[in-house]
Amino acid sequence: MVPDRKQKINPWEMVLAQIDKAEKRLECDPNMIEKLRYPERSLLVSVPVRMDDGRIKVFKGFRVQHSTIRGPAKGGIRYHPDVDLDEVTALAAWMTWKCAVMNIPFGGAKGGIQCEPSELSMGELERLTRRYTAEIFSFIGPDRDIPAPDVNTNAQVMAWMMDTYSMQVGHTVPGVVTGKPIAIGGSEGRSEATGLGVVFMVIEASKKLGLKLEGATAVVQGFGNVGSSAARSLFREGVKVIAISDKTGGYYCASGINPFELQRHFVANGTLKGFPGCDEITNEDIFALPCDILVPAALENVIHKGNADRVQARILAEGANGPVTPIADEILKEKGIFVIPDILANAGGVTVSYFEWVQDLQNYFWNEAEINNRLRQIMTAAFKKVISIAEEKNIDNRTAAQVLGIGRVVEALQLRGLYP
Ligand code: NAD
Repeated sequence: MVPDRKQKINPWEMVLAQIDKAEKRLECDPNMIEKLRYPERSLLVSVPVRMDDGRIKVFKGFRVQHSTIRGPAKGGIRYHPDVDLDEVTALAAWMTWKCAVMNIPFGGAKGGIQCEPSELSMGELERLTRRYTAEIFSFIGPDRDIPAPDVNTNAQVMAWMMDTYSMQVGHTVPGVVTGKPIAIGGSEGRSEATGLGVVFMVIEASKKLGLKLEGATAVVQGFGNVGSSAARSLFREGVKVIAISDKTGGYYCASGINPFELQRHFVANGTLKGFPGCDEITNEDIFALPCDILVPAALENVIHKGNADRVQARILAEGANGPVTPIADEILKEKGIFVIPDILANAGGVTVSYFEWVQDLQNYFWNEAEINNRLRQIMTAAFKKVISIAEEKNIDNRTAAQVLGIGRVVEALQLRGLYP
């Protein structure tokens, strides 16, 4: 069993424990699973940046390709002080399973830079991004490995990556990254896709549990790309979002928060603090609020053995990757909480990234309604498949999703065979 100390837990050990658990349910050659316990390639780069004050500062950068068995590697780029090789490797493996659960033709990758982006100027951020892209240049490409945004990176960062890559090859290559601005080959619906997908999954779960969404209550941790779009989509479904948090703390309002107004407040003030009608609560207490739907959408390991028992939600939809530790998972299971695991719940982002890549390759673009309909179809089919495996094998939803994802990767590996 992996340790369960908040902040100290190693996400790669979590992945290995999850593989062991899924293996017991998969009737397949153990040799095929063995390969998945190792990433295919891990690149560690030093990224020198000329800072605004004239100094040169060197940052640590990573790009890990966990698997390219089912297609080019795919996964986001994270800018955060805690980024390290084990975290990036774990996130890359989760991308492998996630793309397989959605049945989209990608493997899994992840990248990141150890930095605190809020301390960097726009110029420093751009130079950091461009030099990092140059350092991983030979690793990535539209048929090789396709980055996307993750924590603290966004469409602008993707635009710089796309431009740097294009300048190196001498022509514009929109398909090298996804999550770009629409003006340069991005897709309609991409910025909302992860949060919208979380809510498509909440809708399916609520049908299953007989929960009426109109008037149900929700709590959302994180108000970035995923948390804010999930809050907006829940609000549109008539759900009362009673609390939202970000790194500055939690904000609670029993009568419900309008996430569109909160967004305007955030844009105007640069913080959620001071939003009228809300009481401030801690990021820990937010998890203990009685609610129907809890969406952790910030970082990993936030629900651990020290606080899992306080969770009172009926549905826990993992907007973030790895927000629940393995011991907390057992506690939630005992409490009968319906967990929609990350590799299913937050797969809307990579699914619309897939649509963006397809559109870039064929230079033909779809409208938002087409994107959202296709997204809903793919995610609903994946939800049904995961639930049917969970019921058939009498296992939890997370293990079922991993059995589905890992099973599909193993099937592809068996067909391809081992080179040479
Ligand atoms: P983001 O940088 O846009 O937002 C992160 C949010 O979390 C911010 O509001 C930040 O203030 C908040 N936060 C940071 N530390 C916190 C803390 N200690 N307590 C409470 N809130 C805190 O990042 P994002 O893209 O929304 O990603 C969030 C999670 O979703 C990550 O786990 C990421 O891997 C996952 N994810 C993102 C995407 C995507 O398309 N962006 C897709 C799938 C999964």
